[in-house]
Amino acid sequence: MLHFFLIGIASALSGQTFDVTPLTVNQGGVLRVRSSNSAESARMNGRVIRLFPQKEGGALGLMPVPAAEKPGNYKVELIDKNGNSLQSAAVTVQDAHFPTQNLIISEELSKLKPSPGETEAVAAFKNTVSDMRYWNEPFAAPVSGCLTSPFGVKRLHNGKPTGDYHTGFDQRSPANGPIRAVAAGVVKIVREFNLHGGTIAIDHGQGVESIYLHMSKFATTEGAIVEKGDVIGYVGSTGRSTAPHLHWGVYVNGVAVNPAQWVQLHACAAKRKAPRTASKSE
Ligand SMILES: [Zn+2]
Repeated sequence: MLHFFLIGIASALSGQTFDVTPLTVNQGGVLRVRSSNSAESARMNGRVIRLFPQKEGGALGLMPVPAAEKPGNYKVELIDKNGNSLQSAAVTVQDAHFPTQNLIISEELSKLKPSPGETEAVAAFKNTVSDMRYWNEPFAAPVSGCLTSPFGVKRLHNGKPTGDYHTGFDQRSPANGPIRAVAAGVVKIVREFNLHGGTIAIDHGQGVESIYLHMSKFATTEGAIVEKGDVIGYVGSTGRSTAPHLHWGVYVNGVAVNPAQWVQLHACAAKRKAPRTASKSE
């Protein structure tokens, strides 16, 4: 009986399933790539991501679409370990029409240099892809304040284009308000940096990470395992920041993606002259 059952599974596997959702995505979005076989990877426009076995069966990988990806038609391919294409799906990347934002920053702030190792530590973190999945949806907002700057905004500093876009969300929050983990994960960075300021970075597993900047105080340590909603630190204005706020961002397989896919926030009302809540353009 068991024998027949196993044969049944084997034939189901050979009639392999492959699924990409959604098939139309905005710049900064994420495509979910599912396959019945976890021994594979997926490729789109030269970027390769791993697929991981899931508790509910099958394998899942998250393909990030960078904010700067050219709108148009692309192919997502399921590939074997030698890079051979097994199956493919046609997807369309749409222009997200990101706005432009000028930030007035002081000369002192504009001259800030990263701490020794800051750039490298953050880059290494963003590219972390670990096997164990801690994240579950939905994610939680880390603070309750409104959104002062959305993802993808093209940044100018004092009128000069920086060539950078905003890699996360800026949320208004009073100084020293608690900041909560958006999902469960392992705390990888708890550091005071010159540019990022007080920084916490969490690996949620299987290529999903989150980062929190400009904090005034920390409430966790490197190596700690946190649950969604755990307080990890407090809002500040450290690093390249001109007023207390929280900058946070989500990285998927090394690429900054739009947190709005997980956490919807209201934009702050623009009636009065809003206080500058510039984060660095990172
Ligand atoms: Zn920011």
